[in-house]
Amino acid sequence: MSRHQFEAYLDKVFHFSRRVAALPEGRHYPRHPWEKVFDAVFLGAACQFPALHRIEAECRDGALSKRIGPLSEDAIGYALELQDPGPIFALGCNMARRLKRNGVLRSEWARGRVVAAVDGIEICSSFVRCCDLCMERRVTHKVGEQLREDIQYYHRIVAVIVVSAPFPIPLGIRFQKHGETEVACTLALLKDLNDQLGRRFFDLLVADALYLQTPFVEAIEKIGWEWVINLKDNQPELLAEAEQATAGPPHFQESNKKQELQLWHAPEVLWPVADRSVRVVKTVRTLHKNRVPLRPASASKKPNAKEAFDEQGLNFYATNVELGLVPPSFIHQLGRSRWTIDADAFQTLTTDSHLKQPSVHQGRGRALVNLTMIRVLAYALTIVFYHRQVRSHLRKASFGFCDLARKLAYLFLLLPPRMDSS
Ligand SMILES: [Zn+2]
Repeated sequence: MSRHQFEAYLDKVFHFSRRVAALPEGRHYPRHPWEKVFDAVFLGAACQFPALHRIEAECRDGALSKRIGPLSEDAIGYALELQDPGPIFALGCNMARRLKRNGVLRSEWARGRVVAAVDGIEICSSFVRCCDLCMERRVTHKVGEQLREDIQYYHRIVAVIVVSAPFPIPLGIRFQKHGETEVACTLALLKDLNDQLGRRFFDLLVADALYLQTPFVEAIEKIGWEWVINLKDNQPELLAEAEQATAGPPHFQESNKKQELQLWHAPEVLWPVADRSVRVVKTVRTLHKNRVPLRPASASKKPNAKEAFDEQGLNFYATNVELGLVPPSFIHQLGRSRWTIDADAFQTLTTDSHLKQPSVHQGRGRALVNLTMIRVLAYALTIVFYHRQVRSHLRKASFGFCDLARKLAYLFLLLPPRMDSS
């Protein structure tokens, strides 16, 4: 074996190494070329090594010793700090365009649309470590036995993630700036993506209730996107109108062993502050579940029989989607598709891809931005590789995403020694 199969796949589908080699260099006389540092961080993230410290060890005498060779944590941090995040963002957009051309971003349920969801996540909160790009807040916390108020430093990133694909794929992230709202940050990210990916790269945006604000909705409609946004009490007048319009019996009902769904549809509900009307769908979903009942410690040790119980969820969705022949339950499906961000993408990004682990942070804000962008890119490309190449060729369903990371690291060990000594 002369090449790692993950890298061979990336080159075949994305011309990845050629594009990485073309990334501009941010330093004048680098001891290690940026391509080498990028590869170390990218492949280290693909192998799910949690920190730069670990990547240094793996480059010295571990999984990456043949592929990368010696490279110190400090050299990686320094190179990351001096690099412009723009070309890394553009590289991610390049990959996304290829994925769209290859038909990876669509699936049947979305009726031909590419659907993207937006959401934010907090990373790297600390009372000690900070950088010039940190956000700050005053927090009361326990130090020993005493309560103390201190400044807490943290970062929030927003992500745009395709949720119409068979698995969620991040398109891009942006760090929220101090004093900037999440919605403003997301809008800036969406505009950057629109510039890079071209108009109508995706068709429809889903978001939580925070985003149901006139300026945001106007801005995304101007770009030409459809939208489905949760409606909650942060828009009290619209919610009151929607409640009134859906007060009667449901327009649609469906039940099976697991759940019961009731759905109301109001095609024109007045949104007074925006001086317009929107379409509203209300759903009540009753999930039939089982649980083990709690009982006193003195009772017998035999496990209790499970008892059945119902869990009910009420949701309102506002939208500009023209339904035509499409049933209103499509709005419910679109609204629910956003849950894969929290349940799947953010969950895997934080547990397996160590997104919350700062690694470089103290005094190196830009290094943290670049590190996080490379980690998200590595997640996106390994998850594509996992679903398109590994899982589709495997009968064993138990081979998970973190098994893949171990396998990737193992395969690097089998590479022949490098000929050069850079
Ligand atoms: Zn910071």
